[in-house]
Amino acid sequence: MLMEEKTNLLGLSLTELETAVIGLGERPFRARQIYRSIYRRRQFEIGEMTDLAKDFKQRLTSQFTVAPPQVARVFQSHDGTRRYLLTLTDGQAIESVYIPEARRRTICISTQVGCAMGCTFCVTATMGLVRHLQAGEIVGQVLMILNDVGETRDGSTRLNVVLMGMGEPLHNYDQTVKALALMADVRGMNISPKRITLSTSGVVPALKKLAEEPVVPNLAISLNASSNAQRAALMPINHRWNLQELLQTCRDFPLPPGRRITFEYVLIAGVNDTIADAHRLTKLLGGQRVKVNLIPLNWDPRLNGVATPAGDRILAFQRVLADHHLTAMIRRPRGLDISAACGQLVARQQEH
Ligand code: SAH
Ligand code: SF4
Repeated sequence: MLMEEKTNLLGLSLTELETAVIGLGERPFRARQIYRSIYRRRQFEIGEMTDLAKDFKQRLTSQFTVAPPQVARVFQSHDGTRRYLLTLTDGQAIESVYIPEARRRTICISTQVGCAMGCTFCVTATMGLVRHLQAGEIVGQVLMILNDVGETRDGSTRLNVVLMGMGEPLHNYDQTVKALALMADVRGMNISPKRITLSTSGVVPALKKLAEEPVVPNLAISLNASSNAQRAALMPINHRWNLQELLQTCRDFPLPPGRRITFEYVLIAGVNDTIADAHRLTKLLGGQRVKVNLIPLNWDPRLNGVATPAGDRILAFQRVLADHHLTAMIRRPRGLDISAACGQLVARQQEH
């Protein structure tokens, strides 16, 4: 006889949990207790949920489970960065990163196993899209890392979450939006949308739709080029939605007051790092309230025909932007000794 698959409670919204609990003949407030256990206390053993009666826990366990991603390996860098290789219930692997800094902690999470977008400078792209992650697998990364590093949310070290790991979040739209709602829910994980950043290669219709959702995160747009020809060569998505359409969508995006869109620009030697590129970039972004993150390419042997620019070129590029009053930060590489670009760990694991 086949074992019946148990439903994973991790990833269910409060309303869905209420339906599950009512189905077991219990009152809806039981769902709130389970919801708090999972998302607030990060307690994943049904048997150890102390506010539930033993008999109810038994009935619950017969049909349900709480199955977060499991930590398979942790790579610790001298700069404190911790890179996690996590395995999902079907054995697929994803990676997430924990970056502690003086006044904030950032958790970088994945939204897909692999990615379909095919950017030429990205290791995740070499895997292709294996599958989308479920909302529970997306928020589960945050919960597991917080359990691993311990809670210090005392107001002095704020928690940020960035959807910048493996995958294109807006290609996995429904589960990503559900995960955003779970993270922001004050009854559970309680992470302010101001502290959540979604990074996208620019799925224009999905960006427009995202603006209408109840939880709107900060946006980071992976621009990576200063002309359409260049961007299309690096990021095939540009054939579908070009720079002008993408930038217009960003200008129209109803940002809450005080928030700015971040544009990410991976600098690739001899490809998009010239002074002429910097000037074109200032024309594309000039006069808008935006931030630019310059990211020197994280090189990997699996990447073909791309290299990291020399330090002086990176500084010269930044100077042009600064001269045109465009705020541009060079993103200090973190945890270089334990990995490099996103997707590297999993790709490496697959080789062995
Ligand atoms: N798919 C989304 C989010 C994941 S990629 C996106 O593309 O925005 C997150 C960021 O990593 C993107 O800005 C991407 O341009 C950058 N990135 C990808 N490969 C990189 C590499 N080899 N070196 C440096 N940054 C890289
Ligand atoms: Fe996918 Fe982002 Fe990598 Fe492009 S840069 S392949 S969109 S993960």
